[in-house]
Amino acid sequence: MTLEELEQELLRNLAQIIARSEELECHPLLIGGYAVRAYTKKRKRFTEDLDLVISRHDQGNFIATLKALGYEYRPETAFGGIKATKPVAGQSLELHISVDKVWDISSDKTYPLPEDIFVSRQLRPIEPYSERLKTIVRAPVIPLEDLLILKLMTLRELDTIDTIALLLENPEQVNIASYRRKVVTAELTQHINARIEAISQLLKSGQASEVWKRYMSTDLSSREIETAMTALKKLVIPTEFICPTSNSPQKHVFKTDAPRIDNLGNLYAFCPIHTYTCYELAVPS
Ligand SMILES: [Zn+2]
Repeated sequence: MTLEELEQELLRNLAQIIARSEELECHPLLIGGYAVRAYTKKRKRFTEDLDLVISRHDQGNFIATLKALGYEYRPETAFGGIKATKPVAGQSLELHISVDKVWDISSDKTYPLPEDIFVSRQLRPIEPYSERLKTIVRAPVIPLEDLLILKLMTLRELDTIDTIALLLENPEQVNIASYRRKVVTAELTQHINARIEAISQLLKSGQASEVWKRYMSTDLSSREIETAMTALKKLVIPTEFICPTSNSPQKHVFKTDAPRIDNLGNLYAFCPIHTYTCYELAVPS
């Protein structure tokens, strides 16, 4: 089977899974390479992985869906999800399904999926990698903010490439308030901020361009590097706060590893010395 035929099979199977899931009222969402594809039109990357997430509530119906479509499935205790396979033309189609949370092996970090993403689902067109394939499947895809978190969370260079592609094609589309809430709630602030710093360094040093070329067979222009750096900067969660100490002319600035977020989406932290609740950011965004 050629890569083109494999992709055609994958997309056909994806369409079947989506249609059958609708009938059984369960709500899988695409993550991984095909979710990235849904948000990138110009910078496509071939992928043969079909990665999905479901909520625990939908697990029974989703397994019934897979069975009906001829998949073998088995629980994957390592990542708390399900692996499903189906033989097609001497090859094996593979599905990775995460349940309620996504665990990343490279960083050993977990992203608990926010419940609301399964309720307010967005169908997006998934364009084939090959120009010759004309079938465009519309599938429910994880929101851009959650996808970025999943990509930023890992230490794999492929995910760094995906992050850069997502930011280049959606520089203004990320809902920063929603993104912040998700990162803070998942207690990933420190980890994600460190990953953003690491990717910025790779972009600055030119290493990201080399990796990009290896995966995408094109060059990253200096303008693209600049755009990606600017977009990344916006994703840094502020961790320095100003404490309103009244009896001192000097402002007390302190740093926290884990800022909190209130119902309005404002970040805050408790000053460890003065026990004030501090809302004012040292570096206003
Ligand atoms: Zn203080």
